[in-house]
Amino acid sequence: MDISVVVPLLNEEESLPELCAWIERVVTTNNYTYEVILVDDGSTDDSWEVIKQLSQNNNNIKGIRFRRNYGKSAALNEGFKAANGDVIITMDADMQDSPDEIPELRKMILVDGYDLVSGWKQKRFDNTFTKNLPSKLFNAAARASSGIKLNDFNCGLKAYKKKVVKSIEVFGEMHRYIPVLAKWAGFRKIGEKVVEHRARKYGTTKFGWERFVNGFLDLTTITFLYKFGKRPMHFFGLYGTLCFLIGFGVSLYLSINKLMDKGFSLTNKPAFYIGLAVMIIGIQLFLTGFIAELITRNSSERNSYLVEEKLGIN
Ligand code: UDP
Ligand code: MG
Repeated sequence: MDISVVVPLLNEEESLPELCAWIERVVTTNNYTYEVILVDDGSTDDSWEVIKQLSQNNNNIKGIRFRRNYGKSAALNEGFKAANGDVIITMDADMQDSPDEIPELRKMILVDGYDLVSGWKQKRFDNTFTKNLPSKLFNAAARASSGIKLNDFNCGLKAYKKKVVKSIEVFGEMHRYIPVLAKWAGFRKIGEKVVEHRARKYGTTKFGWERFVNGFLDLTTITFLYKFGKRPMHFFGLYGTLCFLIGFGVSLYLSINKLMDKGFSLTNKPAFYIGLAVMIIGIQLFLTGFIAELITRNSSERNSYLVEEKLGIN
């Protein structure tokens, strides 16, 4: 199969028929074999009825329905598991992304050899203060921590090689950082294509202010997981030992002074309390690292690595 289009959606009943008709138009002009996987992320409107109808009329249109709302990342993850195409395209259901970009994205994957191509909404039709400025900040943080030079990490329109989507797991609200997940799974050829962005035609945005907090927390999590996920002691142990030694040094210095000079008052010195506190923090960090290490060692994933190829081994 040439193409799988994965569409996560929450309460988008008005857009779906138009979106599917448009995708169909594009793929039939290009003679692709295709499937459209509509993942209903717990909609409370008639989205699922609409999907059932669409799938009855066209058996290339498939649906997955969550029992409740789990989030866009979960929806994408399920869609990825089900996808059969050589190239997987994701797009939002609200028709802010244009299906006309599909052939060019597919060419970049198959001919230019990209593992992942992310859309870039260079000219964006969203609110400047609630969307455009915060997203500039996000992108700068993601660029800095991942080293991937993309202008727009969170664009809903992306194209993937099949093995990329089968190798990554999108959870929490990690859909914002899929290029980062892909890079850390070992897919380095990540490209960008300027795409047309359109104003939302129906319905309203599904992401509120929480995305600021969640976005930054998720970035911290994936950065940490990638660097220290399999060896937490190297992080906590280092800083814990460092803290402990500093605190111990300060306390020792003050104690020696006290021994030498009976009139020397320990409890009048702020440094004494700071020294004690830093020692305790150090021990706590160290123990956290130790417990984290025990947990990772007990995890069934502790020895799972992504193998690219094997020679002479079944
Ligand atoms: N979406 C989803 N689950 C959610 C929130 C959003 O599947 O919990 C879908 C939504 O229906 C849309 C896409 O994710 O297809 C992007 O959402 P939206 O357009 O609201 O985001 P924005 O473009 O405003 O950033
Ligand atoms: Mg949108």
